[in-house]
Amino acid sequence: MTDQFKKYLTSDHSTRVQAVKLTNAWQTGLAHQHFPACVQKLLGELVSAAVLLASNIKFEGSLVLQLQGDGPIALIVVECTSDLSIRATATLREDHKVPEDGTLQSLLNTRGEGRFIVVLDPNSKESGMAPYQGVVPLEGDTVAQVLESYMRDSEQLETRLWLASNNKHTGGLLLQRLPGQSAAESLDVSAETWSRLTQLATTLKPNELLELDTDTLIHRLFWQETLLAYEPQDVRWHCPCSRERVADMLHALGRDEIDSILSERGNVHIVCNFCGKPYEFDAIDCAGLFIEPPGAMHGGDDSVH
Ligand SMILES: [Zn+2]
Repeated sequence: MTDQFKKYLTSDHSTRVQAVKLTNAWQTGLAHQHFPACVQKLLGELVSAAVLLASNIKFEGSLVLQLQGDGPIALIVVECTSDLSIRATATLREDHKVPEDGTLQSLLNTRGEGRFIVVLDPNSKESGMAPYQGVVPLEGDTVAQVLESYMRDSEQLETRLWLASNNKHTGGLLLQRLPGQSAAESLDVSAETWSRLTQLATTLKPNELLELDTDTLIHRLFWQETLLAYEPQDVRWHCPCSRERVADMLHALGRDEIDSILSERGNVHIVCNFCGKPYEFDAIDCAGLFIEPPGAMHGGDDSVH
């Protein structure tokens, strides 16, 4: 079954409710990537968070969460496009031991030098929109806390997030108070709605986010509320890497370089550094890289490629 993102609005239009649960996409993402449990949990929570935040960007492009760590994790990059294609990876430092109960702070910010960067990157640079980059203080024990502060301080949006992840699923719930109503009476109403919904959501347990389907989860929490539902959106894991792209890269390295790798190791083994997918080229595959395709015989003129 396809993973879906669901979005609702309270009947007074003051509060946005969003939920996501990923099973297939998360399994695909983990297919070629193996991390210690605490690292995988952190990555999964960031994946759900990225989907919840990317669904609100108002241009075609992507949201990137980049965490540069000073501890056992060197780098985490999570990218979610505005049409909810996601990819994510983590790079560990080989000389660091990963603590079994590693947390955001002990994995990424051991000396206070960790950095959390949010990038909003429009596809079309001609639209006049420059990529936006915000640095988020790594203050807080959880991904949810760090992102709640970021949304409040940088986006001026009161936001609450609940995130959970294990080796099968990752899921998240977001509540966001929408700006706009200035009349005192409607402010009272929206403050009341906000406080009621956040209190209801506080009862949420991580295993409910992971085990329940989204409709059941929303019903269990907010059955007394009138929520307007938007059309659900599919979420998929997608990395644009392919055997053709790797072949192009190997071709660009040049025959001498490839021959030297082949003589050393017998084959060329490349791992996509964004999804961990392995690509294997043996000696015959490599020879094929340097055969001129028919119709491109222009006597060594490289510009035809
Ligand atoms: Zn890839």
